[in-house]
Amino acid sequence: MAVTPRSLRVLKQRLISPNLKRITFVGDDLADFSINSASGYVKIFFDANSASSSTLALETNQKTVKRSFTIRAFRENECELDIDFVLHDDYGPASIWSNAVTVGDVVSIVGPGPTKLVDQSADWFAFFGDLSALPAIAVNLEKIHSSSVGFAFLQVPSIESCIDLEAPSGVEICWVVQPNPKEAVNELLKSLRGLTWMKGNPYIWVAGEFELMRGARKFLKSNKKQLAGSYISSYWKFGATQEGHRKAKFLDAAISKVQIN
Ligand SMILES: Cc1cc2nc3c(=O)[nH]c(=O)nc-3n(C[C@H](O)[C@H](O)[C@H](O)COP(=O)(O)OP(=O)(O)OC[C@H]3O[C@@H](n4cnc5c(N)ncnc54)[C@H](O)[C@@H]3O)c2cc1C
Repeated sequence: MAVTPRSLRVLKQRLISPNLKRITFVGDDLADFSINSASGYVKIFFDANSASSSTLALETNQKTVKRSFTIRAFRENECELDIDFVLHDDYGPASIWSNAVTVGDVVSIVGPGPTKLVDQSADWFAFFGDLSALPAIAVNLEKIHSSSVGFAFLQVPSIESCIDLEAPSGVEICWVVQPNPKEAVNELLKSLRGLTWMKGNPYIWVAGEFELMRGARKFLKSNKKQLAGSYISSYWKFGATQEGHRKAKFLDAAISKVQIN
């Protein structure tokens, strides 16, 4: 990931659903930004003191904190970058900032990091994700071949949060409407366990809350499924700031390594 900070200005913003806000950033610092970066991520710097979360103060004594966000789209000619922010109620620096943002506000970012795209040689695809993963899944659905087949299980907190997606007609979009994050994890895992296995090798793509990542990984490992590939990641952790989430991920990876060895 490129680590030299880029300074960007907010060009426009719009709600694409009650819980998802698209913010378009612009700036000359995007002149050398990677053209094919959509689905990859950037880290955005926020003021740590803006958070209402007291745990954040305990986890970091820094003035700024970094948060990861998916590149929903990048238009190189205009030097414009779209990011979809989840407006979650459990306020952290990023959600507070994205709620209150105004045109002209300036942020620093680093990145982009690697893309999170499926391997297109798979026979079929299955996506599982909550709102935080919807931007990356939306990019994947736009990029896979129009003849692709499979499923996308997408959790949203309310029926109003279901949005139009550009996807191949052979990929069934299944909205999982569930406002409770813990229940949402259970429902997405239930969809994974009950998945109709199609012919050939699938690419399984899962991202969202920490327990979704753990449950999906456990299921795929214990069932020894034949896969063309997989991407299983956690994007946030219920009750933890991103600093706490990072520590939990690190610990979890260390434990699974010990279990394998
Ligand atoms: C590779 C990657 C890509 C990501 N892409 C996106 C993206 O495109 N859009 C996006 O919105 N997020 C995305 N995320 C997730 C985002 O980085 C986290 O949600 C981040 O914690 C938000 O920061 P915050 O300052 O709002 O909250 P934090 O300070 O990190 O946490 C404060 C509180 O908010 C809760 N919280 C954090 N995130 C959520 C959530 N999504 N829903 C409900 N409660 C939450 C925490 O559990 C905690 O209690 C991505 C993460 C990764 C690793």
